[in-house]
Amino acid sequence: MDFDALFTESLDALKREGNYRIFAELERRAGAFPRAISHDAQAPDDVTVWCSNDYLGMGQHPTVIQAMVDTAHACGCGAGGTRNISGNTHQHAMLEAELADLHGKDSALLFTSGYVSNWAALSTLGSKLPDAVILSDEKNHASMIEGIRHSKADKVIWRHNDPEDLDRKLAALPVNATKIVAFESVYSMDGDICPMDEIVEVAERHGAMTYLDEVHAVGMYGARGGGISEERGLQDRITLIEGTLGKAFGVVGGYVTGSAALCDFIRSFASGFIFTTALPPACAAAACTSIRHLKESGAERARQKEQVRKLRARLDAQGIPHLPNDSHIIPVMIKDPVKCRQLADILMQDFGIYVQPINYPTVPKGTERLRFTPGPLHTDEDIEYLVQALATLWKRCALAHAVA
Ligand SMILES: *Cc1c(COP(=O)(O)O)cnc(C)c1O
Repeated sequence: MDFDALFTESLDALKREGNYRIFAELERRAGAFPRAISHDAQAPDDVTVWCSNDYLGMGQHPTVIQAMVDTAHACGCGAGGTRNISGNTHQHAMLEAELADLHGKDSALLFTSGYVSNWAALSTLGSKLPDAVILSDEKNHASMIEGIRHSKADKVIWRHNDPEDLDRKLAALPVNATKIVAFESVYSMDGDICPMDEIVEVAERHGAMTYLDEVHAVGMYGARGGGISEERGLQDRITLIEGTLGKAFGVVGGYVTGSAALCDFIRSFASGFIFTTALPPACAAAACTSIRHLKESGAERARQKEQVRKLRARLDAQGIPHLPNDSHIIPVMIKDPVKCRQLADILMQDFGIYVQPINYPTVPKGTERLRFTPGPLHTDEDIEYLVQALATLWKRCALAHAVA
């Protein structure tokens, strides 16, 4: 049996559609972000990264690096076990306390990534709670969808960011069902923000618990970086807040926060929490330092908002269409997978601008895009250089200009 022929057959189909994923090989340079060294033969050696989820550059923050290095020297590299068997370190406990405080909750529980936290928490809630029904926003992240699927609980999909549709769907459920409303604050691909007040109100009216993914908002919104739920004063009314340590906090890991009983329940029943080696203590210490920094300092958030505003204004001035939203995510719509890839290739090869093309299945077919995430460390010159490059390509590729 020629197994490789089976593999290549599927891969060839992806390539024909223009949806084959090609990774850029980068060497990040601490102190120089968003500049990085490219190891791709066709690209210049030095490139500017325009699509990082290290939104605030905290991955290279001196105190964060120091915390990681110091802890590695003091405690070694790995945790040496699962949380249950020898891997539960002081750094994990401190980080969980920091996270609980960030979201105004009793407790927090760490996972090895945000993906794992969603997968593990939703599969545990859906499978262990009696008569659970999970009501999932139609644009929820793959990690939530997989967790819900794995739970085997009944699932109801409601229209994206539509509290009225949620209301109707909740009303149709049996009164005795355990209802879990799962949604996100900032949706990563369109950058739109949910109507959280309305969703919470609808959920409360039906006695449903709320499960909120704040992955693209933690560190970024709210006076202390507690996300959109902090900004809107809704932390107390959300049952569970989930987040990542790998995006704005610049390290790695995921977590959920909630009541002591909720976290203890997931700690005690979630396979994806129990049967895996704990995060390295050095990562926990670095994440803890990053969270503390962003609780105190609003400077990174303010400067980022400023750069986001500038890039939008410059794109508008050039007639380059981008999705309007209230977040830091700027999607420039290309609407064709092959063109999207070509544009990204030219930006990288001719201009040293790195932006990953976003194609199916990350976004629906026909909505392919370049997704820009300006940060506090992108200079005004970086913005101008990017906009000029895009304007040049726009003319070359004869793409339709924005009418809006
Ligand atoms: C990235 C992402 C996750 C997963 O977080 P990681 O820490 O990267 O695993 C979860 N939810 C959403 C909405 C995401 O975009």
